[in-house]
Amino acid sequence: MSDIVSLGQPTVGDEELKAIAEVFASGWLSGAGPTCAKFEKRFAEITGTDDALATNNCGAALHLGLTVLGAGRGDEVIVGDYTFPATGHSVAWTGATPIFADIRSDIWSVDPAAVEAAITPRTVGILAVDVFGQPADYDELQAIADKHGLWLMEDAACSAGASYKGRPAGSLADIATFSFHGRKGITAGEGGALTTNRADLANHARKLHTYGIAPALSREGSADLPIPNFDELGFNYRMSDVAAGIMLAQLERLNTLVQSRQRVADQYGTLLADIDGVQAPVALADRVHPWQSYVVTLDATVDRGKVAAYLKAHGIQCNFGTYASHVQPVYGFSGHLPVSADLFMRHLAIPMHANLTEDEVDRVAGTLRAAMAS
Ligand SMILES: *Cc1c(COP(=O)(O)O)cnc(C)c1O
Repeated sequence: MSDIVSLGQPTVGDEELKAIAEVFASGWLSGAGPTCAKFEKRFAEITGTDDALATNNCGAALHLGLTVLGAGRGDEVIVGDYTFPATGHSVAWTGATPIFADIRSDIWSVDPAAVEAAITPRTVGILAVDVFGQPADYDELQAIADKHGLWLMEDAACSAGASYKGRPAGSLADIATFSFHGRKGITAGEGGALTTNRADLANHARKLHTYGIAPALSREGSADLPIPNFDELGFNYRMSDVAAGIMLAQLERLNTLVQSRQRVADQYGTLLADIDGVQAPVALADRVHPWQSYVVTLDATVDRGKVAAYLKAHGIQCNFGTYASHVQPVYGFSGHLPVSADLFMRHLAIPMHANLTEDEVDRVAGTLRAAMAS
């Protein structure tokens, strides 16, 4: 009878196609070109930062950020536990050890008290995660970082359009990193960005993201024959100019998309309020939540697998929330983080994207109600 309601869906159309055509016509399709430069300028404005660097994904931006902050072998970086494992992986890529810290039970970002408790003489920095886009507690985290001489990073993978006490996501730490993967609020299919107010970090990250030399754009139009010198082992973490064109069109939509998601969240909030065993997510008044995902918490007595199977059988896509990092075997982490471990088992993501209609949201909520009663 009914179509499938998808868990997430990009909002792309004629504007993005037009942007792609313009990049094709320009002849510069590869990365770090003029369209990337335009995107970076615009993204820095939106995030209220001095510099933005376009990358091919958020994992690359995380790796660059940690590298230019100096993380390496023998170091410990405290990481918010509840996240897609790109966060923990990026720390491990540098040779440093991710030390996972437990999360707040309401908004699921790292608990500042757990961060403080995890500090050792080896700690060099804190990598907080804006879980599903809602910013973490940056005032408290910055105070801890200052007190102990640590740097602070924001995994803002899901945070485009978010803010904390009036300050935009991306500007809340020494470095922030964004994802433009297809499941995020704005997307080029794949993509990422690093933002910072520190020119030294921005310049170093820009160099490392293009194999350790200045981007080709800086040599364009030169009258002589500049020959770059490779003095540092960089990577190819460039965003293509094709993706940057798509991203420029997506930035035009950003406000509308966040408003649409807020409308969906408001409607869910009303419809789910009286379903026994289901708790709606919390959005704190001092921050703007961009609702990358909408994740409900089921009571411990509820059989999540059964609820999920019911939803799927009725055409409603769903998923778990995100990952408790510390239980992933790849890290060999020995601690137990009870809040994160528990929510990893009880969270259920239901459809959230900017294209959902009121009727679809009604249908999702009604089906979840029926699933809980079944
Ligand atoms: C999606 C996501 C990432 C990874 O982003 P990619 O662009 O796929 O590398 C990292 N951190 C968090 C919190 C994410 O949600």
